[in-house]
Amino acid sequence: MKPSFVYFDLDNTLLNHISAERNAQEQTYKQYPELQEVSLDEWHDKYKAINHILWEKYQRDEIDRHALHKARFHQTMSEMNMDTGRSEEIGRFYMHSYRNFWTWVDGAQSVLERVSSKVQSGIITNGFKETQELKFEKLNLKAYCNPLLITEEIGKLKPHPIVFDVATEKAGVPREEILYVGDSFSSDIVGGKNAGWQTAWFTALIDKEESRNGYTDISADFEFEDFDELLSYLEL
Ligand SMILES: [Mg+2]
Repeated sequence: MKPSFVYFDLDNTLLNHISAERNAQEQTYKQYPELQEVSLDEWHDKYKAINHILWEKYQRDEIDRHALHKARFHQTMSEMNMDTGRSEEIGRFYMHSYRNFWTWVDGAQSVLERVSSKVQSGIITNGFKETQELKFEKLNLKAYCNPLLITEEIGKLKPHPIVFDVATEKAGVPREEILYVGDSFSSDIVGGKNAGWQTAWFTALIDKEESRNGYTDISADFEFEDFDELLSYLEL
C-alpha cells in the first residue's frame, strides 16, 4: 500500500550528524591543548564511546540531559587523565561548533522537497528540544513538514510506543498508511514496525550491525543508501 503520510527521522537521515560531530570535535580538539595529549582519533573514539553509554542512560531515564551534556566531556577527559578544569567550557565550545557544521545528508533536501509536495510529511526526532528546534530552523523544515515532533516534549524516546501513538494521532491517517524513514534500526525501524507502520531504513551513514543492536527477527520494508532510491520506492 502506498503511504499517505511519511515521517522522517532527523539526525543521520536528513541532517548529517556524523560529519557535524566529527568536524566539531576536530575544531574543539585544536582549540584546547589539554585534549592534545592523545591523537584526535583516540580522543574522538573515546568521546563517542562514553557519549553512547551516557545516551543509553538518558534513554533509560537514569540521567537528564544536563547531566549528559556535563558528563560527556568531563568523563572522557577524566578517563584519559586530562586536566578536567575546563571541561564545561569545552562542552559549550563543542556545542557551538557542532551547530556551525550542520548540513543536509547528500540528496536528502531535494527528495524531502519532492516527497512533501506529494505526500503529507512530518518529523520525529529523539534529541533535545533546544538543539532540535535550531536544526529545524537551519534546514527550514517547517516549510516541508508538519508536525515536527521532538520526543523530549512527549516524555519518552523512540522506540517507545507512546511516541508512535502520538505521531499516528497527529498524522490523522490509519497507522498502516504511515511510512517512517530513519537510520536507527533499534529506534526507528523497530519502533515503526511495532506501531504497525511501514518502514524504510537509510543505511548510508551507519554501521548496520551496530544499528540492529541485536534485533534479528525484524526487517524493514525497504532499505536504501541513496535518497533517489526512496523516490523510486514511493513512485514519485
Ligand atoms: Mg537518526
